[in-house]
Amino acid sequence: MKVPFVDLRAQYQSIRDEIAIAIQRVLESCAFARGPFVTQFEKEFASFCKSQFAVGVGSGTESLWLTLLALGVGKGDEVITVPNTFIATAEAISLCGAKPVFVDIDNETYTMNPVLLEADITPRTKAIIPVHLFGQMADMDPIMELAKAHGLFVVEDSCQAHGAEYKGRPAGSIGDAVCFSFYPGKNLGAYGEAGAVVTNNQELAKKIKTLRDHGQLEKYQHMMIGWNARMDGLQGAVLSVKLKHLSEWNEARRNNAKVYDKLLANIDGVVTPKEADYAKHVYHIYAIRIQNRNKLITALADKGIQCGIHYPIPIHLQGAYCYLGLEKNSFPIAERYSQELISLPMFPELTKEQTKYVVREIKSLTAQ
Ligand SMILES: *Cc1c(COP(=O)(O)O)cnc(C)c1O
Repeated sequence: MKVPFVDLRAQYQSIRDEIAIAIQRVLESCAFARGPFVTQFEKEFASFCKSQFAVGVGSGTESLWLTLLALGVGKGDEVITVPNTFIATAEAISLCGAKPVFVDIDNETYTMNPVLLEADITPRTKAIIPVHLFGQMADMDPIMELAKAHGLFVVEDSCQAHGAEYKGRPAGSIGDAVCFSFYPGKNLGAYGEAGAVVTNNQELAKKIKTLRDHGQLEKYQHMMIGWNARMDGLQGAVLSVKLKHLSEWNEARRNNAKVYDKLLANIDGVVTPKEADYAKHVYHIYAIRIQNRNKLITALADKGIQCGIHYPIPIHLQGAYCYLGLEKNSFPIAERYSQELISLPMFPELTKEQTKYVVREIKSLTAQ
């Protein structure tokens, strides 16, 4: 049996007629760059996030970068985030001219540890970026409290957590701004590159709208130096179709996770993911922890099972960030887990047979 890590084709086939109609509509109206299909999706996505505004941009990376620029983050500022994230979180900080500062993670949720956060706050700190890793939100209440006490912005990296919840509140409704990616493999994925910023702050939304379109709100009146970070009309139309299915797809992911949880529960040396009491996890990634990970990944690949590693090298140990001078053991939990995590196949269309096959192979391979 073959079990891919993700299966975008299976999902496309389940919605191909709706997609064809949506794409045809964009082609007929020739609204390719920004335009009505993007505006429509922005409305729908803001409402899905129980927030007032969504601004569509070209990628998740741009959503982070433009948000920080709009908040005035720049040279001399520090922004606190976690070392176990995709490189884009740190890149966005760096591209504003600011310095990323890292804080270690909670050992059960793999997200920002709020207890360690305060020690990182300095007079230069401008913002905090918790990352809702794998589809589970960080513990937002203590993070928001600290931010308030110190006058800091909270920008959530929700690129992996469309539809996740914190104490019943959806991702996108808590921080000053919440950044999403619609990279094809994400829980809500475009058919190309796209991203969005969600916020309740009208001024901020307006500033990001200006920045994404060369600093103009009216044609050829450039109020500030911006960039071309517009979302495509085609992506807006595709995302509107797919957003209607997101809750059902997230439920399917949660069901698959339950099956994995149950079947993997009694295997020695395998640690399954924990859903925090405060959270609704949407399992963008289902990651287990195990010693001697690489041996298992290779053996599973030989059986047709494709796994991933998120992420093998923490940001502070990447070549691009060696200038920060952070040594090994600076963030022991994040570093240890970067050696132990394996992401198993996870997507809504994954079948019970596939899940059982994956677990059976893990069982027999770890028993050897
Ligand atoms: C995917 C991702 C991003 C970047 O999004 P792009 O759309 O690929 O630019 C940023 N942060 C995290 C945590 C991500 O998973």
